[in-house]
Amino acid sequence: MLRIVYLYQIRFLHLAVLFGIVCWSAILGGLYSWAARTELAHHDRLIELKALALGRQTQSLRRWIGGHGGVYVETGGDVAPVEHLAGLEDRDIRTPGGRTLTLLNFPSLLRRIVEEFEADTNDRIRLISYDPINPSGLPDPWEKAGLDMLQDGNEEIRERVVKDGREVFRLLYPIRFQPRCVRCHEDWGNAGQKVVGGLSVIVDNTPYDQSYSRLVRNMRAGYLGIWLSGVIGLLIFDFFGAKLLRKLEYASTHDRLTGLKNRAAIERRLDEEIQRAERYQTPLSVLLLDIDHFKRINDRYGHHIGDETLRIVGSTLKMLIRKTDTAGRFGGEEFLILTPNTDMDSSEMLANRILDGFRSAPVRAGKGSTISITASIGVSSFSEQLNDAEKLLKSADKALYRAKDQGRDQFCMHNSRVL
Ligand code: GH3
Ligand code: MG
Ligand code: MG
Repeated sequence: MLRIVYLYQIRFLHLAVLFGIVCWSAILGGLYSWAARTELAHHDRLIELKALALGRQTQSLRRWIGGHGGVYVETGGDVAPVEHLAGLEDRDIRTPGGRTLTLLNFPSLLRRIVEEFEADTNDRIRLISYDPINPSGLPDPWEKAGLDMLQDGNEEIRERVVKDGREVFRLLYPIRFQPRCVRCHEDWGNAGQKVVGGLSVIVDNTPYDQSYSRLVRNMRAGYLGIWLSGVIGLLIFDFFGAKLLRKLEYASTHDRLTGLKNRAAIERRLDEEIQRAERYQTPLSVLLLDIDHFKRINDRYGHHIGDETLRIVGSTLKMLIRKTDTAGRFGGEEFLILTPNTDMDSSEMLANRILDGFRSAPVRAGKGSTISITASIGVSSFSEQLNDAEKLLKSADKALYRAKDQGRDQFCMHNSRVL
C-alpha cells in the first residue's frame, strides 16, 4: 500500500512539475504577448503624437502668419521676393537703415523652413491645394481623396498607410477659403467655407519600428531568460523532490541497522507473495530466523558489538539468498526470509546454507577476538491449511521454537521434521 502511495507521490510530483511548467509557460507567454501588444500600441501612439504635434504646430503657425498678412524677411541668400505677390505694392520695403525686406506668405515661408528639416528626416510637411500656384502643392491620390472627405466637414484625417514601400502615418488638416486668399488666387472669388487645400503631414514609421523591434528582441530575450530560470527551478525541484521521496520511501521500508526490509515492508511483501502463490499455484516458503543467545553477545561485548553482529547477519543473509527471495528484520534479532517458487526441499537447502554461512562468518569483537554466531530457523510453506500470512508466520514461529528447544543452531520444518 505504502509502495503504491509512494509511486503515486513520485508520479504526482512529476505531474505537478509538468503542470507547473505548462502553467509557467502559459503565464509568461500571456504576459509577453500582453507586453508586446501594449508596447506596439504605445509605439503607434508615439508616431501619432509626433504627427499631431507637427501638424498642430504648423497649423497654428499658418493661422498666425496668415492672420498677420505674412512676414517680412530680409532678401538675400535663399530669400527672394515671391513672384505671385508682385501685385502687392508693399511686397518689398526698404527700412530707414537701408535693408531690403520682402513679404513672405505662409506657403513660401513653410517651403523654405521644411527644406532644411526634410534633409535629415523622411517626415514631410506641406501645403496642398486643388489648384496650387506652385506645382509642388499638387495633392497625391491619398491627399486628393482626403481633401474630398474634408469637404464633407471632417476636421482631420489620419491614416497609417504604405507610401513608396515604407510604412507612414499620414495626417491631413483642411484649409478653408478666406477673403485674404484672393490676394494670390484672384480666380477663387468668394468660395465661402469651401476647403481649398490642406496641410499634409507624413511621419515615417521606420525609426519607431526599428526601436520597437529592438525593444521586442530584448523583451523576448528577457522573457526567455525568466522562463528558462523558472523551468530549470521546477526541474531542480522535481529532481530533488523525487530524490527526497525515494529517501523517505527507503527510510520507511528499510531497517537502518541492517539495510534489510523492515517488519512492515516484509509483511507487505509476504501478503503479495501469498496472493501470487494462490493465483499461480506456485510454492512459497518462509524462514523465521532467530540468533542464538544474542543477549549474551550484548552482555559480554556491549551493544555496539551486538549491533555489528546484526549488521553482519543482515549482509550474510543478503549474500546467501537468491535475488527473487526477500529478507527482512522482523524483530530485535529475528529475521524473516521469503522464498517464492520454493518448495519444502529447496527451503531446507536454503536453511542449511544459512546455518553454514553463519557458522563460517564469525564477528570480530575487537582485540583480535571473534564471536561465533549461530541461529535457529523455523521453516513453513504455503498450503491449503496455511493459506494466510498469520497462519504461515505462526507455524514458522512454532517450528523456530522447536529448533530452539532441540538445542539451537538448527532448523525445524512446520510439519515437525527436524534436522
Ligand atoms: P535465544 O537463543 O533464546 O534467542 O536467546 P537470545 O538471547 O538470543 O534471546 P533474547 O530474547 O533473550 O534476547 C534478545 C536480545 O536481543 C535482547 C535485546 O536486548 C537484544 N536486541 C534486540 N534488538 C537489538 C538491537 O537492535 N541491537 C542490539 N545490540 N541488541 C538488540
Ligand atoms: Mg528473539
Ligand atoms: Mg535469540
